Amino acid sequence: MQRVDFLVIGAGIAGLSAAARLARHGTVTVCEAEGAPGVHASGRSAAFAHYDMDAKLVRALTAASMPLFDEPGARVHPALFIALVGQEADLERVEAVYREWQPAVERLSGEEARALVPVLRTDAKGAIGGLLDSEGRKLDAHALLETHRRSLRDAGGTIALAAPVTALRRDATRWIVETPGATYSAALVVNAAGAWADQIALLAGVAPLGIRPLRRTVITFDVPQGMDVSAWPFTKTVGPGFYIEPEGTGRLLACPMDEHLSDPCDAQPEEEDVALAAWRVEQATTLAIPRLASRWAGLRTFTPDRLPVCGFDAHAPGFFWLAGQGGFGLQTSPAMALAAEALATDSAWPEELRAVGIAAEMLGLHRFLPARDSARTPDCL
Ligand SMILES: Cc1cc2nc3c(=O)[nH]c(=O)nc-3n(C[C@H](O)[C@H](O)[C@H](O)COP(=O)(O)OP(=O)(O)OC[C@H]3O[C@@H](n4cnc5c(N)ncnc54)[C@H](O)[C@@H]3O)c2cc1C
Repeated sequence: MQRVDFLVIGAGIAGLSAAARLARHGTVTVCEAEGAPGVHASGRSAAFAHYDMDAKLVRALTAASMPLFDEPGARVHPALFIALVGQEADLERVEAVYREWQPAVERLSGEEARALVPVLRTDAKGAIGGLLDSEGRKLDAHALLETHRRSLRDAGGTIALAAPVTALRRDATRWIVETPGATYSAALVVNAAGAWADQIALLAGVAPLGIRPLRRTVITFDVPQGMDVSAWPFTKTVGPGFYIEPEGTGRLLACPMDEHLSDPCDAQPEEEDVALAAWRVEQATTLAIPRLASRWAGLRTFTPDRLPVCGFDAHAPGFFWLAGQGGFGLQTSPAMALAAEALATDSAWPEELRAVGIAAEMLGLHRFLPARDSARTPDCL
């Protein structure tokens, strides 16, 4: 039996970034089911950071995170938000929320947007206006994961790969955590299992939160020879539509912003979502996509109120949730890791979070308690 202070379940961006911080306070082991970190959501993301996010809390977490990103994990790259016909009100809404966090954002005409992304149509199917954030960040998920892996290792922490947690039980004051190769006794368990977070709770005899994994699809394709897209902004419609972003000089990544409820699994792209991605890009641009370079899908995992959760479970001593990072888990990971460190070690609330108006309660589990407790019928009656 190996004794550790913190046993983190999941080596995605949530688990590894928190583990690197927790390693300053005690012994840490991360158990990851797969043979490498970042195999699921964290390695399948579009990896861009911007403020066109539905919830104020997510925008605040993003604002707190931006100064904490370092190269090579992040580099400045512009983001352009375009309005298609009928999306004028969405453009106003995005501009209003954006200015709170990035006052230097610029309003553009359709023609000005086309000067940045020359393939955008400006006819009835194309962009009628836009908003340019010159201070967006292109993230590199693998570089971020590697930085956390190194800090964890340098602080004496370890990652057990191909080590799925198969059983969890409470033994007096500690958690006994079983994997096929080893058994751990941990003072504290961090549930950072992404789409599997509710399944981990069930293994531990803890009531689930109602986590919903939603599949999203990505394609990549080559642009016509001689076209250099590397300086094009990350370009996203302000309402339903798509986003595209450069992948090197001659290739674009595109996503139709689909959401399909899924079981936690190794998500695979469905043909109709792949076709939808290509069709939406072809409708709004002059590009033709006769063949794809690659396609994939990943799970974006949401809590019932679509806000992330970070904190102890009041019904299960030493069981800490770090889940529900939806479509913003990379861009909010520095702030979420700070919050996890402060809450899991009972340390002072970080100034970086306070400065943008984030309090610990905003991330807590109490938001789900009525619905959650009614799911625990036998115990609660
Ligand atoms: C297509 C797509 C585009 C996205 N674009 C962006 C973007 O542009 N910007 C952004 O910030 N975010 C984006 N996201 C969201 C972001 O990728 C996620 O929010 C983030 O990766 C979630 O990290 P995680 O560590 O919680 O989950 P994961 O990376 O899924 O990690 C969870 C880990 O837990 C492990 N695990 C599960 N069960 C067990 C077990 N029993 N034992 C041990 N380990 C276990 C899994 O194997 C997995 O590695 C996107 C996501 C998708 C799918």
